[in-house]
Amino acid sequence: MRIVDLFEAFFIDLDGVVYIGEKPISGAKETLLRLRSLGKTTIYLTNDPRSSPEDYVKKLENMGIPSNPEDIITSIMAIAHYIKYQHQDLIQKKAYVVGTQALKREINRIGLALVEGEEAKMADFVIIGGHPGFHYDEIKISTLAIRNGALFYATNRDPNVPSEEGYVPATGSELAAIEVASGKRAITAGKPEAIMFEVAIAKNHLDSKENIAIIGDRLDTDIMGGKAAGISTILVLSGSTKSEDLDDTEIMPDFVINNLGDLLSDKDKFINPKKFPQ
Ligand SMILES: [Mg+2]
Repeated sequence: MRIVDLFEAFFIDLDGVVYIGEKPISGAKETLLRLRSLGKTTIYLTNDPRSSPEDYVKKLENMGIPSNPEDIITSIMAIAHYIKYQHQDLIQKKAYVVGTQALKREINRIGLALVEGEEAKMADFVIIGGHPGFHYDEIKISTLAIRNGALFYATNRDPNVPSEEGYVPATGSELAAIEVASGKRAITAGKPEAIMFEVAIAKNHLDSKENIAIIGDRLDTDIMGGKAAGISTILVLSGSTKSEDLDDTEIMPDFVINNLGDLLSDKDKFINPKKFPQ
């Protein structure tokens, strides 16, 4: 039996699994097309709060991988969905949003009015997503609003992201400044939080967690999050984790594959020997 035969739905991380930066990972396209032709549900989960689902659809399309905006769950959508369902009445509530236009649009779409400047200091919500224009005034206004009682959320906690220049600061670094200044800790949605997985499950009406697997290249986000959400976990070695990293971690994926193409091979070859010793 192949790994692909064990599951009906796959939650797939993007960077390190489907591509690295702008470069597609070899064999990913062919495997994803095959999964679609087998009728499998493929949902992409990304913590990156800088782009919209439409941006990812375009990026995947350029690599020959067809998808729809509904197939993509970003940390922006996850936090917006979470806030909407945690708070029944958002009308007339005000949000101070630090982040990209994509984040601001999504927060506005769930019914929160966006405020800036003086008004923002009395906002009901402060919502953070990493953006390259991050400024001292944003730390200041967020801190004042939170200390005045605003509820505090952020898209994710990734401290940095890979770029052509190396790893550069991301949401987690900006969020840390606001958390230190305000003395409060934000609720975040990105992996490894279960929120992102719950949103993906709810939006796709998936009813049995046994039939779902997450495929990701990071133990501390993808695999840890999958475990917290109660679904099966597949670590892929095409990104940031190497097989020797499994020697000193307690986070044990169910399967370890070299690349997405291994989904179409005999499952017994890829059962994590460290989790299930022979
Ligand atoms: Mg990744």
